[in-house]
Amino acid sequence: MIDTANPTYYQRIKIWKDVSPEEWNDPRWQLKNSVRDAEGLGRVINLTEQEKADIEEALKHSRFQATPYFLSLIDENNPECPIRMQCMPTICELEPGLGDLIDPLAEDADSPVPRLVHRYPDRVLFLVSELCSMYCRFCTRRRLVIDRTTSQLASEHDLAIEYISKHREVRDVIISGGDALMLPLASLERIIQKLRAIPHVEIIRVASRFPAVMPMGVTDEVVNMLKKYQPIYFMTHFAHPYEVTPYAAAACARIADAGMQIHNQSVLLRKINSDPSIMKKLMHELLKIRVKPYYIYQCDLASGIEHFRTSVSKGFEIMEYLRGHTSGLALPTFVIDAPGGGGKIPVMPNYLLTLTDDRAVVRNYRGLMSSYTNPRERDSTCSTALEIAKTLAPEEAKNTAFFDLVDGKRVTLKPQV
Ligand code: SF4
Repeated sequence: MIDTANPTYYQRIKIWKDVSPEEWNDPRWQLKNSVRDAEGLGRVINLTEQEKADIEEALKHSRFQATPYFLSLIDENNPECPIRMQCMPTICELEPGLGDLIDPLAEDADSPVPRLVHRYPDRVLFLVSELCSMYCRFCTRRRLVIDRTTSQLASEHDLAIEYISKHREVRDVIISGGDALMLPLASLERIIQKLRAIPHVEIIRVASRFPAVMPMGVTDEVVNMLKKYQPIYFMTHFAHPYEVTPYAAAACARIADAGMQIHNQSVLLRKINSDPSIMKKLMHELLKIRVKPYYIYQCDLASGIEHFRTSVSKGFEIMEYLRGHTSGLALPTFVIDAPGGGGKIPVMPNYLLTLTDDRAVVRNYRGLMSSYTNPRERDSTCSTALEIAKTLAPEEAKNTAFFDLVDGKRVTLKPQV
């Protein structure tokens, strides 16, 4: 683990020995000096001739970029350093994997206009940028942001905003990419401003990996802009506890102090965080810097990333180790984003052993079994449900209809659509 508490810790790396802390903390300097090829990477960490050749081969098909900051977290003495494995291209990316899919989540099929994915009833994913400050080799959206063979997104944002304005059921917009914060700040503000002007858009989420890979990019200007458009939720992505540095803590403090909740989405990555103790440490470190663990994703079936995938049972093992062994706040939901576009499906070890009309038999994290007895009275309809239902947009009501009215009385229950 690299000791990042010293403000000039990065000067141990020869090419940055004369870089001042002011330059190091400047996001423009970080982007300008990002490493983009094997030769550049070889100046930061020791690479064998074979590794260099492999990287060059991999880069014929994909893009590579890593910020000096993220590279400075690499332990040069560990070939399986989790930071190194996330950002360094390898020849494994060219090997076909089991079940590989170009668009593993079938997002293109659920894209009514360019840049927008509308899969769930009340929320949309708005891909505002195809750029990232660091290209994660395991990216599920690599067809759009990393691969050189596939087309880039169309540049128009207005079509997507128009679609959202016409769809009253959309109450939650996730601004992502790529990395949302790679857009020029004025462009991002224009988008958020237009979304905020749409009455039915209740919340906006901004997704960025900056806190983990270029925390100096979370500037006061960025948070001051975002906080004007509350409620804004900040979605980020830490994969390993070694990413939780004083720089990351300061970035998250700026976001949280501006009144925005931060949620973390990790991907389960083989030999990077595929161990219960690493995940538990990550969840604890995140809470300490005011980040709520939100999801652990089973790694998707994107082509070129099989070497990052684990079996689903590894995720179960991790969740079994977290549930009960640490506080509920530290517990993310483990999900499989269903290949083919089925959406996020939560999966977890089984704690419910039997469920009958009369009772539920459950087990706790230590294997202790208990029986919960159901009450005699089973009618649990609420008197205000109808009032609430009347406030829903017609499209939303259609998707959440529970009952019909005849002469002002509820008479039937409908299954959810
Ligand atoms: S930051 Fe997100 S979108 Fe960008 S490469 Fe990493 S996983 Fe993909």
